[in-house]
Amino acid sequence: MAPHPATWLRSLPQGLYCEPGGFFIDPLRAVDRAVITHAHSDHARPGHRHVLATRETLALMRARMGAERAGEAQQALGWNEPLDMNGVELRLLPAGHVLGSAQVVMNWRGSRVVVSGDYKRQPDPTCRGFEPTRCDVFVTEATFALPVFRHPPAGQEIARLLASVALFPERTHVVGCYALGKCQRLIALLREAGWDRPIYLHGALTPLCEVYTALGQRFGELPAATAAAKQALVGAIVLAPPGAVADRWARRLADPVVAVASGWMRVRQRAKSRGVELPLVISDHADWDELNMTIDEVAAPEVWVTHGQEDALIHAAGLRGIKGRALRLVGYGEEDEAAA
Ligand SMILES: [Zn+2]
Ligand SMILES: [Zn+2]
Repeated sequence: MAPHPATWLRSLPQGLYCEPGGFFIDPLRAVDRAVITHAHSDHARPGHRHVLATRETLALMRARMGAERAGEAQQALGWNEPLDMNGVELRLLPAGHVLGSAQVVMNWRGSRVVVSGDYKRQPDPTCRGFEPTRCDVFVTEATFALPVFRHPPAGQEIARLLASVALFPERTHVVGCYALGKCQRLIALLREAGWDRPIYLHGALTPLCEVYTALGQRFGELPAATAAAKQALVGAIVLAPPGAVADRWARRLADPVVAVASGWMRVRQRAKSRGVELPLVISDHADWDELNMTIDEVAAPEVWVTHGQEDALIHAAGLRGIKGRALRLVGYGEEDEAAA
């Protein structure tokens, strides 16, 4: 009989540990061997000795933390390429969250666990789509695991932004978005929607856009907002970190319309308290329906929840006969708050 995953994949203070394989997944502290799902800072931490991830995730980690902190030894693994780790067969499958984001699939003695990392199911022109795979235990996030969280199609929110630009041609639209993933997805969605004018960037967003470009993404013209003449920003779209859109930095823009792109914008009070005039519900995380659909698709009899609103998700899974377990790993979700 295949061993139950709880006997070989353990939740330790450092994070999820695959005992026979001798590696951690997204460890919260520096460890000897780490497998990293994606480059958001709550999952990809500095100082590991050996880091295994997709080529894209490794490039993003080096850009964010510097090559020396991104792992003494870095090993890239291709999509769906099997790797033997002391008898554990490991593969990386696309998670659809940000560029390079992967699910970690582990097979050991006939038992299979999939650790999703963060994921979404809506299409994203900047990364590969989530690939569901059957497993015995599915380890999922739960950032938006409440029935109130339902993300509309991102294209619909982009259409609302462009309608507002058309309505207020004398104002600058400044969109708050997280530097890794959301920013590049917005640019790609705007291009898909036919916006071919320059998209101005706050300086904090430029370096990671350059990594995406080096990895083959084409964004069109992305001038620096601070270098632009005030007149050029009239009627323009400017992307900035969420923290910059309502502060002094944005005051130089022409009568700005403040927008923020996040799954949290579903919560009206949240948008209001942050002075957001145009909340855009665009998220890189699965919403309530996507989480439940994914749990059904992977057909695992058991689901473990790493971080987020685990109670409602475990309850809903239980109603369908799926066993749920909250891992309560402390330390994930910090970056997601802004990135979601
Ligand atoms: Zn993430
Ligand atoms: Zn996360």
